[in-house]
Amino acid sequence: MTATYAEGVAHEHPSLVVVGAGIIGLATAFRLARRGHAVTLFDPDPAKGATYAAAGMIAPTAEIAPGEEANYRFQRGAIDAWREMAREIAAITHREVAIVQTGTLIVGWDASDRRLIDQFRSVATEFGAPMRALDRRDEPEPFEGLSTRITEGLLMADDGWLDPDDAVQSLMEANETLGVRLVRERVLRASSNASGVEVETDSGLTRADYGIVATGAQGLPGGLTVPKSPTVRPVRGVTVRVSSLDRSSLPTVRAYVRGRAFYMVSRPGGYCVLGATAEEKPQPLVEVGELQRLLRDGLDIVPELEAAPLLEIRNGLRPATTDLRPFFVALSEPGWSWSSGHYRHGVTLAPLAAQDALDAITPS
Ligand SMILES: Cc1cc2nc3c(=O)[nH]c(=O)nc-3n(C[C@H](O)[C@H](O)[C@H](O)COP(=O)(O)OP(=O)(O)OC[C@H]3O[C@@H](n4cnc5c(N)ncnc54)[C@H](O)[C@@H]3O)c2cc1C
Repeated sequence: MTATYAEGVAHEHPSLVVVGAGIIGLATAFRLARRGHAVTLFDPDPAKGATYAAAGMIAPTAEIAPGEEANYRFQRGAIDAWREMAREIAAITHREVAIVQTGTLIVGWDASDRRLIDQFRSVATEFGAPMRALDRRDEPEPFEGLSTRITEGLLMADDGWLDPDDAVQSLMEANETLGVRLVRERVLRASSNASGVEVETDSGLTRADYGIVATGAQGLPGGLTVPKSPTVRPVRGVTVRVSSLDRSSLPTVRAYVRGRAFYMVSRPGGYCVLGATAEEKPQPLVEVGELQRLLRDGLDIVPELEAAPLLEIRNGLRPATTDLRPFFVALSEPGWSWSSGHYRHGVTLAPLAAQDALDAITPS
């Protein structure tokens, strides 16, 4: 849903504050600054929320789930939207955000996992998603490094990935070049009055014509309210980074293992992201049990992980809504809007969320 605010503001390029510098806030600030708006971005710890944990898959087809057809349709434009934003970033920073489109291979561990794939396939077919069945004996390459027990899979050739750390760094550099003021402070309170919006941090007050909240699962700062739904709840996820086999030219592996979901995104040089847990818990920490299940599933699917050096474990809180759909809504306080609910697709959707913000501020 898109909220429109531009009526009533006399100047062509109203100023903005953006609260939250995760991938959504960074991409939003970028789009607005590039269009000529003066943007101030607030975050005590930029890009260390859910964005930090993300694997970076842009996988509209592999992410298909029953009842989420609208999400799928929306996400189908994500790779093109990222390519366009990557070109714009490169023109400013000379940094290339690589968008790698090697597809996704979905496999199952046992007979009941393969039944889950059959169910997935029938939902995806209903949505008209492109995919094809693979037999390992005929086409062994996409199965490289996977357990010999896995003999078949489903290939979704349109899916892709990017490196979120790289995207964040590039957006931060582009924003700096475009004059976005990054204030490394938490917004304590926010409000609006006749002349615009106002935010309060430890160091004082900042005013602008409009404000956008992009705080992910952390919800609204004090002083702001949403007229009715949506609400956002945190769903914790953990990813593990290891050095292992380089499958970066092959499809990303996703698997059902004993009913759970596992994936491995492989980047050039063998930097692999294993993911991801999904716990309806708000604490930003890693439980031994959830880590153990993730690694056990990974070892079953990719036996070579046994000897892989462990690099890092990251966790983040995905911002989820009741209907699992993202939103861009007007808040009760004039001039304020809220962009969140991107759940497990925030990296994918960042350029589209940024476009929503731009459309609201500068309606055609
Ligand atoms: C384990 C895991 C794996 C994932 N994998 C993928 C994937 O492969 N592909 C994909 O598309 N998506 C993925 N996601 C989802 C994606 O990471 C999120 O949807 C996305 O990062 C949400 O971005 P955001 O900017 O809304 O929130 P965040 O990244 O959480 O950023 C919110 C920011 O707001 C700041 N903030 C909060 N309150 C305030 C305040 N009062 N004042 C100032 N700043 C504030 C925080 O410090 C934070 O930096 C994954 C998520 C997880 C957890």
